[in-house]
Amino acid sequence: MRKTFFLDRDGVMIEDENYLADPAKVRLCPGCAEAIRRIAGAGYQIIVTSNQSGIARGYFSWEEVKAVERRIEELLDGAGAPKPAAWYYCPHHPRGAIAEYAVECDCRKPKPGLLLQAGREHDVDFENAFMIGDKLSDLKAAFAAGCRSGALVMTGHGGEQKLELLEKPYLTARNILDAAEKLLAAEESASETAKVEKRS
Ligand SMILES: [Zn+2]
Repeated sequence: MRKTFFLDRDGVMIEDENYLADPAKVRLCPGCAEAIRRIAGAGYQIIVTSNQSGIARGYFSWEEVKAVERRIEELLDGAGAPKPAAWYYCPHHPRGAIAEYAVECDCRKPKPGLLLQAGREHDVDFENAFMIGDKLSDLKAAFAAGCRSGALVMTGHGGEQKLELLEKPYLTARNILDAAEKLLAAEESASETAKVEKRS
């Protein structure tokens, strides 16, 4: 089983451009490459889960989503950060224009379908899995899938979210790097506490 960080894409890893389809417009959020280096350095696999209803709406194609993905990987590589282990997208929207994708699905966050699929395909240890998102729907999906904790960043749509109590505690962070540092530090101190308890 792999300990895992789930990351949202738009507003967390890259600057949120509404319905981004042009790889030339991709810009990493401040701290993204460093956050990914630290998460990977701590032994976690990284899986991106992203709602891309622009596909259902007919704004862009799967090919364009994959082109943006390749551009993000290129930028990460250029900044010395590893590639995510996998990318999962929900292409659906119930009011979409493309019939094939205009459905009520199980994978559009806050539903946990994308994370559960990733869990099966990448051996995710949900008890040691975390989510970094810019919407409460990211955290809701994470908790519905069984993740341990998560962080809401203030980049992207983070500042507009009305904070509410969810089924598990989560923290808020300035950006993806702040989120990664806080979640990793909390894990570190939790595992130290567990070791001490075992000894005594
Ligand atoms: Zn879906």
